[in-house]
Amino acid sequence: MTLPVQDNAQDIQPDKLQPGLYIVATPIGNLSDLSLRAADILKRADLIAVEDSRVTAKLLQHMGIKRPMIAYHDHNADYLRPQLLPRLNHEAIALVSDAGTPLISDPGFKLVRDARQAGAYVTTIPGACAAVAALTLSGLPSDRFLFVGFLPPKENARKKALTEIAAISATLIFYETSPRLVSVLTSLQEILGNREAAVVREITKKFEECQTAPLSELITHYEQKPPKGELVILVSPADKKAEIGQDEVISLLQAALVDHPVGKAAALVAKQTGLSRQDLYDQAMHLRQQSSADE
Ligand code: SAM
Repeated sequence: MTLPVQDNAQDIQPDKLQPGLYIVATPIGNLSDLSLRAADILKRADLIAVEDSRVTAKLLQHMGIKRPMIAYHDHNADYLRPQLLPRLNHEAIALVSDAGTPLISDPGFKLVRDARQAGAYVTTIPGACAAVAALTLSGLPSDRFLFVGFLPPKENARKKALTEIAAISATLIFYETSPRLVSVLTSLQEILGNREAAVVREITKKFEECQTAPLSELITHYEQKPPKGELVILVSPADKKAEIGQDEVISLLQAALVDHPVGKAAALVAKQTGLSRQDLYDQAMHLRQQSSADE
């Protein structure tokens, strides 16, 4: 099978852009982080698909750029996508989100997927991404990381999602809003143990801040000093299986028992930790008996 080869040279030619989809990263705070190539593509695009036209209008105004915009967001994407796809054959359409890299906890995945399937020219203009910027600032291991994005807002669903990733040996990266920070940090400590973690706020903005400390200290700090602005939470990788503490095992079992019977909860935690399924079964049984006695 011969795979198609894409010619990227054309988008740096002087006037007309090659028709297709241009995924353009925009700044996450400091407008000077817009790359030269991003500015050039935005200047020459036939149309800019934006999440919120008021937000992108400010960026374009700052750059002295005037181009037609069309709103492409979670609420109209399914309706709009079939209209945009045929236009990629004769128009250069830039896709931007409110800030950072489109598709990263932002709309665009299905548009890119369908554009590629339709054989359109698709290229990316990489740039700021809060997850990667936060990782570089945090001081936590950067060799392996898992971008989780936003956790479910409801506590039980959040704990379940965390249980599934508790044993992964990689720095975990979460997007969050400041009002929920303390409650999310508390869930993280409960399910993952008191790991080293970081809260990175307002990246590239005036009040940029990075606090790296065990989760318990971060909770105390932000309870006393509620955070403002945008933030990313990072948690250091799971310890090696042999070093998992008993408190963490109990937390994992308790979380698994919310949705599963004893046998399945033990099997799930055995898979996550590498500990003996029989031992975990005995502990899970004990926990269940304890909670029935408490009711
Ligand atoms: N697509 C964006 C990117 O590439 O980072 C992310 C968009 S997502 C809807 C918004 C979340 O990104 C925020 O809730 C916050 O967690 C994170 N974020 C965006 N800008 C940030 C900044 N300047 N400092 C810290 N976190 C930021």
